[in-house]
Amino acid sequence: MPDKVRDVIIIGSGCSGLTAAIYAARANLSPLVIEGHEPGGQLSMTTLVENFPGFPDGIQGPELIDNMRGQAARFGAEFMPGHVVSVDLSRKTEGLGTKPLMINLGRETLLSRTLIISSGASARWLGLPSEQALIGHGVTSCATCDGFFFSGKEVAVIGGGDSAMEEALFLTRFATKVTIIHRRGEFRASKIMLDRARKHPKIQFLPDTVVEDVFDVSKKEVTGLRLRNLKTGEQWDLPVSAMFLGIGHTPNAQFVGDQLDRDGDGYLICSGYVCSRAPGVFVSGDVSDRHYRQAVTAAGTGCMAALEVEKYLEAIGK
Ligand code: NAP
Repeated sequence: MPDKVRDVIIIGSGCSGLTAAIYAARANLSPLVIEGHEPGGQLSMTTLVENFPGFPDGIQGPELIDNMRGQAARFGAEFMPGHVVSVDLSRKTEGLGTKPLMINLGRETLLSRTLIISSGASARWLGLPSEQALIGHGVTSCATCDGFFFSGKEVAVIGGGDSAMEEALFLTRFATKVTIIHRRGEFRASKIMLDRARKHPKIQFLPDTVVEDVFDVSKKEVTGLRLRNLKTGEQWDLPVSAMFLGIGHTPNAQFVGDQLDRDGDGYLICSGYVCSRAPGVFVSGDVSDRHYRQAVTAAGTGCMAALEVEKYLEAIGK
């Protein structure tokens, strides 16, 4: 068991965790950032980011993340590769003092007075090798981020829930045609969203249909999809310039178990933007945000979490 107790550990190195690290480092708290299984988070998998304020010509997602990391490191943030397996947030009182929070990385356990959970939400993917190879090159899970790049093109959206309808409706601003491909004939989307999509002249529906392959990996761009109708078995190719995944996100919060409040889909529930029910444990970014999911909103709550950490440490006299 280590004897060093840190002031703050941040789980996750996406733009929320890195913003928290910048603020905590500038407050002389020497934060330790545990990078997680997708270092840099969702921005590190995207290309041009045009809606992050301060970059009139846009900035590449990985470059934005590198800048944030460098900015945090400059003020003394430390980084550790690793994946959190479990945490103990109980702070059971033992003998003289209150136990710190425990963060178990499998190979070692870290101790901290406070914790910021910025572990994000991972977009769900179909899992096809060609899809994985084209992420950031026409395969994307964020219409708000990437829709603009497909102005004047035909695109596909995968999924039958509200996210897919919302993405498809948003994409009609840019694309000439949006095809919603859904594996069933029934839709999870709310009636109002489904009706809106059904009525839109640019949107076409392909129910009972799955994507079997994405073209063209050799060209490093999306040129079309191999589709199959699950009822008839018919196979055909649909030419499109982009495939937008709208099949949901999975919040990366399994490691907290039932120690914090989570909603039915596993998103952490906060009060006052970033406060969890465990003292000294704060939450920021997409792991608690199923609604906005933007880099700038994740950065905003990262800042709030770091400010709450400062306040908490002050209150306990550290
Ligand atoms: P969701 O409701 O869980 O829908 C996911 C969709 O993706 C389902 O249609 C599902 O198909 C499909 N899907 C999942 N895995 C798939 C796979 N491997 N291959 C093909 N299709 C797959 O997720 P969501 O749309 O992200 O919505 C999540 C929650 O956020 C919902 O409560 C929703 O109402 C809410 N939300 C609200 C708004 C809004 O109100 N503006 C916008 C977005 C999201 P099956 O139906 O066959 O399972």
